[in-house]
Amino acid sequence: MRDKIAELLAAAKQAHGRAYAPYSGFKVGAAVLGDDDKIYMGCNTENISYPCGSCAEQNAVGAFVCGGGHKIKAVLVMADSIKTISPCGACLQRINEFADKETTIYLADLEKIRQTYSLRELLPNAFNDLEINK
Ligand SMILES: [Zn+2]
Repeated sequence: MRDKIAELLAAAKQAHGRAYAPYSGFKVGAAVLGDDDKIYMGCNTENISYPCGSCAEQNAVGAFVCGGGHKIKAVLVMADSIKTISPCGACLQRINEFADKETTIYLADLEKIRQTYSLRELLPNAFNDLEINK
């Protein structure tokens, strides 16, 4: 898993560099580790019509689904900020759709992981019980 964490960090950093955030200036990169041991990237993609923008995690989950993934082992979210950022509520729900009890959420700056949570810690009362998503 240590190698995979290093890969997640590298992928999220690459995604962060590709973020399209001309309005907020706040770039976010995300990397999803699927049960196929593949890594899927996403970056935030803003739009001049603000509600049309999408989160980095949202785009990474979409890439995971399109790539054929079935379960999410881990998600790493990266931003260049003093305080780590967590997936928003909607993205936690999106991750939950493909999660199990072991799904881990890593919050990172541009260099390293600063906090680690289980999805259940961040979304303790998900809309669907995680047990039915096994
Ligand atoms: Zn989100």
